[in-house]
Amino acid sequence: MFDPSPVMQAEVSSSMPGEQLMKGMVFVTKLAVRHALTWYVMRENFSFKTEHSDSKRLMVSCEDDFCPWSVHAICCKGDNVWKIAKCKGPHTCDKIQNAHDGRMIDSAFLAYVLKRYIQEDHAYKIKNLRHVALAVQNTKYHTTRHCRPVISIDATHLYGKYKEKLMIAMATDANNKIYPLAFAIVESESTETWGWFLACIRRYVTNRRHLCVISDRYPGIQAIFRDTNRDFLQPPMTEHYYCLRHLCNNVNTRWNNETLKNLVWRAASATQEKKFNATFDLIENVNRDVHEYLKDVPKEKWALTFDKGYR
Ligand SMILES: [Zn+2]
Repeated sequence: MFDPSPVMQAEVSSSMPGEQLMKGMVFVTKLAVRHALTWYVMRENFSFKTEHSDSKRLMVSCEDDFCPWSVHAICCKGDNVWKIAKCKGPHTCDKIQNAHDGRMIDSAFLAYVLKRYIQEDHAYKIKNLRHVALAVQNTKYHTTRHCRPVISIDATHLYGKYKEKLMIAMATDANNKIYPLAFAIVESESTETWGWFLACIRRYVTNRRHLCVISDRYPGIQAIFRDTNRDFLQPPMTEHYYCLRHLCNNVNTRWNNETLKNLVWRAASATQEKKFNATFDLIENVNRDVHEYLKDVPKEKWALTFDKGYR
């Protein structure tokens, strides 16, 4: 079991993990400022972009150009620390549109959290373990009544010394805020490792019925949800859906058409069957291939109006 707070505090001098950055807060390094920002955006469910970054200054702003939120950190010469000089806000953007999947949590951030953790707890040695899983904030997830039983799972490369993959499970609360629940390091993505990771989540994080798990359409993930021997991943225990952002991005990568991408998003997030059908017809008119492509994906897996309300 892993509580990130002491790890974060070791690097972050005067900010609590997930806390809004405020004028006067002090950090050991520029990277520590970045990690504190990442931790915050993860909790608040938006993305930021870097306006300026050099050895003296770091300026970031909300990814939404019309939103006034920004943070300006400077390196204080004499003390050799980084200080928050300016904060503007609050957000006026639609955070849900802005960032829906916690994509600010990049592998550098996760690798950093894991590295700090392993450094500080010598009982854990990656190379001696085939799999490592860390549960984060599990107590909160259990006890928070506002937390919907919705989990997003994803995997990323672990760069640097270790060639393993990093798996992550993130939770969404009633305000669509996203925060990490569990990480795992595995040798590769497979039916076996995904099955093991989800079994860990079921055992250590949540045993709620109708747990909604959202993922991309990676075959290894799809296989574990088809495997009827894993009854804890079958309805009514678990409902599996596809990530809308992944689906929209796939369409955009293949057909490179912003209008189509938006139409797919609109169809996926329609709350009435009538509206879904109208948008789906529109997609057919714009591009028959995209329509065919989407018809091959079971609509109860990606369209809100057919997902029985568990998402
Ligand atoms: Zn914003």
